[in-house]
Amino acid sequence: MTLLLGLNSLAERRRIADGALKPLRDSLAADLTPLIGREPYVPAGKALLSRAGGRCDFDGSDLEFDPFSPHAHRCPACGRLNTGRWHDGWWLYPYHLWLAERAVHAATLHVLVGDIRNAQLARAILRAYARQYDGYPNRDNVLGPSRLFFSTYLESLWLLHICIAADLLGAGGDAETRDIVHERIARPSAEMIGSYHEGASNRQAWNAAAIVAAHRLTGKTCDDEPVAAALGDIEWLLANAVGDDGSWFEGDNYHQFAHRGLWYGITLGGAAGYVFQDSTIERFNAGFASPFRTALPDFTYPARKDSRYAVSLRQWRFAESCELGLARGDDATLRWALGRLYRDDVPREDTGRSHSSGEAERPTAATSLSRADLGWKALLFAREALPDLSGPEPASITIRSQGYTIHRRDAGTVYVALDWGQGGGGHGHADRLNVFFAHGRARWLDDLGTGSYVDPSLHWYRSTLAHNAPLVDGRSQQYSDGWLTGSTSGAEFEGVAARAEIAPGVVVMRTLVTAESYFVDEVQWAASRQIRFELPIHVNVAADGLAFRDTDLTGAGGLEDGFDFVRDARVAKVGAGTPVRISGDRDGQRVSGTVWISESAEWFTATGPAQPASTLLPFHLIRVHGTSGTIRTVWRWRGDGTIEFSDNEVAVGTELGIDRHIVTPGSWVARTHRGGVMRIEREAGPGVVQRESAPEPGGGAVIAGPSATTAQCELHRTTSHAGWFANLPVDERASWATFDLGEPHYRRTEDSWREAGEPRARAAIGADAYGIVVDVAVETPAPVFVPAGAVNPYDNESADINGHGVQLYCATAGGSGAWMVVPEAGSQSARVRPISGWGSLAPPFAEWRLVSGGFEISIRIPADARTDRFALGLIVNDASPGRVRRRGQLVLNGTDGEFAYLRGDRCDTTRMLSFTVA
Ligand SMILES: [Zn+2]
Ligand SMILES: [Zn+2]
Repeated sequence: MTLLLGLNSLAERRRIADGALKPLRDSLAADLTPLIGREPYVPAGKALLSRAGGRCDFDGSDLEFDPFSPHAHRCPACGRLNTGRWHDGWWLYPYHLWLAERAVHAATLHVLVGDIRNAQLARAILRAYARQYDGYPNRDNVLGPSRLFFSTYLESLWLLHICIAADLLGAGGDAETRDIVHERIARPSAEMIGSYHEGASNRQAWNAAAIVAAHRLTGKTCDDEPVAAALGDIEWLLANAVGDDGSWFEGDNYHQFAHRGLWYGITLGGAAGYVFQDSTIERFNAGFASPFRTALPDFTYPARKDSRYAVSLRQWRFAESCELGLARGDDATLRWALGRLYRDDVPREDTGRSHSSGEAERPTAATSLSRADLGWKALLFAREALPDLSGPEPASITIRSQGYTIHRRDAGTVYVALDWGQGGGGHGHADRLNVFFAHGRARWLDDLGTGSYVDPSLHWYRSTLAHNAPLVDGRSQQYSDGWLTGSTSGAEFEGVAARAEIAPGVVVMRTLVTAESYFVDEVQWAASRQIRFELPIHVNVAADGLAFRDTDLTGAGGLEDGFDFVRDARVAKVGAGTPVRISGDRDGQRVSGTVWISESAEWFTATGPAQPASTLLPFHLIRVHGTSGTIRTVWRWRGDGTIEFSDNEVAVGTELGIDRHIVTPGSWVARTHRGGVMRIEREAGPGVVQRESAPEPGGGAVIAGPSATTAQCELHRTTSHAGWFANLPVDERASWATFDLGEPHYRRTEDSWREAGEPRARAAIGADAYGIVVDVAVETPAPVFVPAGAVNPYDNESADINGHGVQLYCATAGGSGAWMVVPEAGSQSARVRPISGWGSLAPPFAEWRLVSGGFEISIRIPADARTDRFALGLIVNDASPGRVRRRGQLVLNGTDGEFAYLRGDRCDTTRMLSFTVA
């Protein structure tokens, strides 16, 4: 019995590897040639994530990963070699994954072919890691505990391969190495991974699979804990994070990644005799075809949510995924897709397989492919003979679990899509009602996906402004799910209508009607108040007849709103109901269109980051003030003709006649010149949702306390100017609200509260004639204060979060604000940095002093003396010398066992406490 296969299957796979899949077997063996007969390089260093590492110093491009070059890293764009500790630290991340995967390759070839040199290579890698494992430090991580990496899930990817290699070696006769790996690596690593559960995240699929593999290595069964719990996680993820159609909820990129992790979970569980529910298996099997159902005409997947941009499906991994899917059952989409991958006449490029970084793949260039290009999983699981690889190409489709509707025309070369639904969790973008439009290789309306997670440009890519999606009052949309209000399909027309509440009290309905040579896009909004409504259109086309002047294009001021990234803005006035013609050419295609706006509007043009972020692309933006309005655009990819608008009709001339679209609040009826009719019933108008507005940091309302666990806190105003709390007579202290923060308030990273030395703080909240006073005494043997002007080389958070300091969030009836307060060494005053997006309440005065066993900070918020209710959030950052990232946080309102990773200087408004001044 092996982790993935039974022993009988192994004999069967030997036969296939010596027959139909011999070319694959031989090419995998050829990849290993440079390692055979040599001592593998197993670095003692832990991988480091930084802003500079892995990106060209000269142009920002992603550097190549060459497993044989630890200290010189070539840029594929400019060809220059990049050197230095940031790049070397980055290189360790793909390298450790690459090396573990080579051990799997070697062990697989050993059990299938019996070449002893392969066994020696796998054994050398595994035993070196076993010797070194406990020397890799579990500290300073970005996202969860890890020894070799900076995030738990990466350790899971690596551990999974380490376990599979050790298991295959064991099956080949080397039980000793398997047992050493279990004792020195698998057991401690799985225990660490198990301490950090990531919920409904793609990463949890990997964590769960790694835990199963680690504990199955020496015989735990699927009834034993923690194997049973981890397989239960796999089952739960398939029921809750995957739709009926098999697609993962976090977007196309994470679908791929999560589905591969689920493959391990399902395969390991199946080999262990775990019985998954039928619906679980059905969803999993359906997931193989998902990326091909949404593919753009250029055979890339759309860069929805946090997807990498323009990633080609013509990579060996996608071919292998098709093969693994077909090994489990027939599927017409997979047959069509694999046929296209093996048949299409595209140039042959380096597939990247020999330097692939395990399961944390890096997208490679499109290339022609054959079965010899697949990976080790195909060698163990692919069908001996493939079925007939023909099948119908994907047609128009609505993927309800994603909230994504695609209209396909002209044999799939025209792609018009509305991204209306699923918000997408932590990897979602504020982009409800985004529109895609592509014709062949020409991507007219597109989603830029994401860039580096540690670069400030991430805020641009996640902003509404970077999408073809509406926004209100210069702010990115609130995160929410949209909903479908109508759809129809037919030979002459297809239609989809959906709506979303993109800001409190603002509902937008967007309708796309696609015809034979054009589509109509209608955006209609209604608000319960006067708003500034904006629709960005990211397309490089000219707008005719507008008189532009230079201007500034600014938003509400939040970093997440994206306006800080905008350059070269110009503006023109457009009269109500005056059509504006747009047209352009690219990639051998031509587009023309006409935009009609029901209200008088401002039309901006500007530039913003493209892909990569160091390049800029022009875009348009339409701004309208008021409580409601409509924008209709006709986009034509072929032919020409008149386009006329009135309040309730769009008439589109084609070579053969005029199509009329009659638009009423509740329906859309289209009639072609030939007499064909299409009708979509839509809910009447976009509608205004009247609901109590959610607590908004900038809203100026007093924010209620989060839960029943926290009563209203009461305090008494003192008439005199309050000094240091510690210096007050005991009877005066009774006027304050005080909190002793300790273990129940601790948000840990790697160290538990006890392991961190039991950090504590005392917070005292008072009010005097001048405002609100917050006095915090922090117990620490060794304060770490980040100096002013320090730069954070690791990620896009402010440097000051990684030392001791206080994050303070305050909402009063007169306004709200938030600040990071950090003691300045050599001064009595503490530095105050406003935290963006929290309002404009005047910043506090802050002073600090060293005291025995720690330090104290006194913060005075100059609030109106009549303020008798306010809400506060308070977080004390905990640091220790020698770390580069903070160790943890003490949170005023307590924690639910959560971790401090990735929280930056943010505070959830539901975690604030309410205070009443008596
Ligand atoms: Zn370069
Ligand atoms: Zn996006």
